[in-house]
Amino acid sequence: MKFDLFSTYKECRLCPRRCGVDRTKREKIGFCGETDRLRLAYVGPHFGEEPPLTGTRGSGTVFFTGCSLRCSYCQNHQISHDGFGRESEADELARLLKATIKKDGVHNINFVTPDHFFPHVVSTLEILKKEVTGLPVIFNVSGYQSLDLLKDTNEYADIYLPDYKYSDPSLAARLSGCPDYPGLALDAIAEMVKQKGFLDRTEKGETALKGVLVRHLIIPGYPGNSINALTTLFLEFGSKLPLSLMSQYHAVKPQKDPLLNRRIRTDEFEKVYGHCLDLGFEEIFVQFPGQQGRALFPSESIPFVPDFRKSRPFGRPSHSSVDNDRGLC
Ligand code: SF4
Repeated sequence: MKFDLFSTYKECRLCPRRCGVDRTKREKIGFCGETDRLRLAYVGPHFGEEPPLTGTRGSGTVFFTGCSLRCSYCQNHQISHDGFGRESEADELARLLKATIKKDGVHNINFVTPDHFFPHVVSTLEILKKEVTGLPVIFNVSGYQSLDLLKDTNEYADIYLPDYKYSDPSLAARLSGCPDYPGLALDAIAEMVKQKGFLDRTEKGETALKGVLVRHLIIPGYPGNSINALTTLFLEFGSKLPLSLMSQYHAVKPQKDPLLNRRIRTDEFEKVYGHCLDLGFEEIFVQFPGQQGRALFPSESIPFVPDFRKSRPFGRPSHSSVDNDRGLC
């Protein structure tokens, strides 16, 4: 790295919130709710990503405590808002990842909303690269990224999995406190595509090695936001942008906006999905309403709201996870 990595916690501007707080003074925390101490909620195989990322043996996923976006309806509320997780260090995270790579044979390393712990992530990858080579590294992000941080991420990431949540600034302001999301996220995705291109096409049974796949979660009551978001993505990146359309929304906590206290309706989904097809996107991963998980194992029952208090937050029965054996949380 070209800069003193951990000093960035002293006046934190790791994400577009740019709080400027000194996270090393542990009583001073920013919007993400986290100090300079790494906190982990789960490390282990995860089967809820799209098929080119999950493969047959799962994605080696790290869920961190805290989040720099903190949407009111977050599906991972326990960790993003409620602070679930325990303190750790980069060397321990590297050890846990090595264990899941060896034991579970995961196809990749997958950091979920890692921006607020970027120095620890880099440190972990520096430790891992001495012993583990060849596994793609996924940055699984909210789209609300700092361009400067993304430029530093380039040398560590192989795959970007960004959301594009909002085209409507007022909705972004109301639900995530960031009216600047639509433009910032679009710029961030453009930088990711510039760095890595589109997610590489995979043959059946193979997993992706490089590229960008954009996700969009349909929010109940706001199909117009989704329609404009998809149109924006299409106009910006064209029909070959790989897209994942998700309909798993569930009100984890009661929402002020009554529309957000229900699942999406079939007619809302059909309107958005129909628009996606009309635009002509060529590679779409779709989670249809009523399917659990992300439509990857339709015959299995994967809860769509994880419970991080459990050793297997996503409920897949057939693979063990490193936290189960090591008491991660
Ligand atoms: S990572 Fe956290 S403290 Fe740093 S700028 Fe973002 S929200 Fe603020």
